[in-house]
Amino acid sequence: MFEPLGLSATTLAAVDEMGYTQPTPVQEQAIPAILDGRDVMAAAQTGTGKTAAFLLPVLDRLGHARRGRGPLMLVVTPTRELAQQIAQVAQAVCAHTHHRATTVVGGLGYEPQKQALKRGCDLLVATPGRLLDLLDQGACSLDGVEVLVLDEADRMLDMGFLPDMRKIVGKTPASRQTLLFSATLSNDVLAHTQSLVRDPVRVEIAPKGTAAKTVTQYVLGVSPEAKKRTLVEVLRREGSSRVIVFVRGKHRADHLCRILRKKGFSCAPIHGDRSQNQRMHALEQFDRGEVGVLLATDVLSRGIDIPEVTYVLNLDVPHDAEDYIHRIGRTGRAGERGWALTLCTEEEYWDLREIERLMGRVIDEYPRAEGMDLGERPLTLDPARSPRDRIPSKKARKREVAGRQQRAQTPRKAEKTTDERSRRRRNGRGTRRRG
Ligand code: AMP
Repeated sequence: MFEPLGLSATTLAAVDEMGYTQPTPVQEQAIPAILDGRDVMAAAQTGTGKTAAFLLPVLDRLGHARRGRGPLMLVVTPTRELAQQIAQVAQAVCAHTHHRATTVVGGLGYEPQKQALKRGCDLLVATPGRLLDLLDQGACSLDGVEVLVLDEADRMLDMGFLPDMRKIVGKTPASRQTLLFSATLSNDVLAHTQSLVRDPVRVEIAPKGTAAKTVTQYVLGVSPEAKKRTLVEVLRREGSSRVIVFVRGKHRADHLCRILRKKGFSCAPIHGDRSQNQRMHALEQFDRGEVGVLLATDVLSRGIDIPEVTYVLNLDVPHDAEDYIHRIGRTGRAGERGWALTLCTEEEYWDLREIERLMGRVIDEYPRAEGMDLGERPLTLDPARSPRDRIPSKKARKREVAGRQQRAQTPRKAEKTTDERSRRRRNGRGTRRRG
């Protein structure tokens, strides 16, 4: 029930229209604190309902800027997609609260954005670079900002936006209310952002490594040369509608897209080299069902809200374990069921183990691989592995890879056995399997 949270009837009507019946945990905790005028630092990954958690209470109380003035509320977010997505939710709320919202993001023309700012707005959603450009050009002022939202703060730090973020914050009044949302509130994030908030209420929903509980996760060991055909086979068996395939590298995404098209799948690539319009077009086509498979790099792994993704296929294991959590979070959102499959080669084995360590659990083997051609040397996974096993250093892993390449000359069966044995030895569990 949203009623006890303290929102006005107008905002509750917006909630009703958006079809939300129960507040999510982050909404339950953040909305009353924000309505109280408190600063908030929230650790909430995407998919937790954090966008509505800040838009609903702020717009509930926000006044209206005079013509040619504003913004009164500023949301800074790292990527164009996130900005568009926040703007969409804002539109739904503003239709009821009668606030004017404007979005300024890179990759689009300056003039329409300048014109919109000139007309004035109550809420401005912006990416840091473009906002600073426009501020430098005198196209807008942040003097009137009463509420500042820093969305995906950890991502902004990762992307090197810290100086931009500080500059922007410096241009807002010190009396503002500040709401900071981050997938994690790591020591690094806290060290860089604590000075931006005043006596904040801490909201922690998704501790580091918490994967969406509604996502069933599988891993399948494959040989590197078999990845493409395994992808095709999985799409054939599991369906190719509303599927996101994550890959490492923009060229790889483009290349695979061409291959899949030749095989008759409707797909589109989405990555940092695509223009804003191309990305938006691909997302719209996906949303309308004209494109069944999106081939994405990690540009899409955080924050993008695509409802009803059937499953996520990680063609490559991400190097950054937290990216995995974000990737699989694209399915099973806000209570829907979803599943994710990760293809893993020998080379990627330790990246997989890092993910399992972060999550504190091992990923089950994909149960429907019977009859699939997994290649010459598919990775074999030890079902007795534990997320608490020690992970060798990067240097030790490099040595292991070099050793493996050397051994690549030796007969196939012997090599696999040696690899698995040495791995078990390192994990301190001999060759015995846990019961
Ligand atoms: P977010 O974490 O803001 O990216 O939201 C993730 C998804 O959850 C979006 O599709 C929202 O529409 C949806 N959502 C947000 N709040 C609720 C709610 N209270 N009930 C159901 N769905 C929600």
